[in-house]
Amino acid sequence: MKRFATLYGIRPLPFFEHLNEYRAMAITTRQTATLALAHALSAAERGLPVIPLSATKLPALRSPHRGNPDPALCRGECGLPGHGVHDATTDPAGVRALFAAAPWATGYGIACGRPPHHLIGIDLDIKTSIDSIAELRHLALRHLFTIPETVTVLTPSGGRHLWLTGPPDTVVPNSASRLAPGIDVRGTGGYLVGPGSVTAHGAYRLAPGTAHLPPAPCPRALLSLITPPAHPRSHPGPAHGDGHGLVQFVLAAQEGQRNTRLFWAACRAYENGLGDTLAAALTAAAVGAGLTEREARATIASAARLTSGRGVH
Ligand SMILES: [Zn+2]
Repeated sequence: MKRFATLYGIRPLPFFEHLNEYRAMAITTRQTATLALAHALSAAERGLPVIPLSATKLPALRSPHRGNPDPALCRGECGLPGHGVHDATTDPAGVRALFAAAPWATGYGIACGRPPHHLIGIDLDIKTSIDSIAELRHLALRHLFTIPETVTVLTPSGGRHLWLTGPPDTVVPNSASRLAPGIDVRGTGGYLVGPGSVTAHGAYRLAPGTAHLPPAPCPRALLSLITPPAHPRSHPGPAHGDGHGLVQFVLAAQEGQRNTRLFWAACRAYENGLGDTLAAALTAAAVGAGLTEREARATIASAARLTSGRGVH
């Protein structure tokens, strides 16, 4: 009798306790996934293209081409999901389909640089030795711009993301600590972890009082700081010509500039009709500067996609 009493719930056996824990975990995971989808749909409704993210903040869907020697060359043309930020969509049915394929998603990413907002993320990282918020204020004072009131997302580590909008015809490259220590820029080809996302380190939340704001236009002075110069003569960058200068520009890149420089050079090459001619030389230069061939190919492929997609949206 005593044994039955225990079995039927008066004092659950450890086995049942564990079972309940597992059930609770499964429910929590399902709720997190449902919430992530709900947040993603509401962002999509505001015109922000989204993809599901896993708890590691990486795209939740893996490439259907993994194991293939040239996986970076497909940006979704195969029709399958799993192309990172290239999957991002504002279509509610498309968003639902992506999340249905990734039931383990706990958050969502918002693709930057895409119409209609052409979102630019200013990622203010918090590290013990760096106060990136103060760095941004110094930058604003030095370059005479005002940091506008705009949508601000608080990150689990105490950092913040400022959402700004860019002009449609401007390519803003992604960069890390190039503007100032601890300040990263999320531009074309990059994404921001959306508010309401849950990661292994905690939740991303809208800063109080910023949810109702539209993303503010990026101040012109800040935009010119984060945009690679478009006129080679007015800066010490490369001349285009036959593309030799572009290759040299990539070859001379220091650590931390390689990807930005390669992306910039590849965009200029494609814009000038030299993309296919120069792709191999740019890849070799990037590898010479320290990128892996895979990274180089992926960056060049992004540039090709970006420049060919111009005006199509
Ligand atoms: Zn593909």
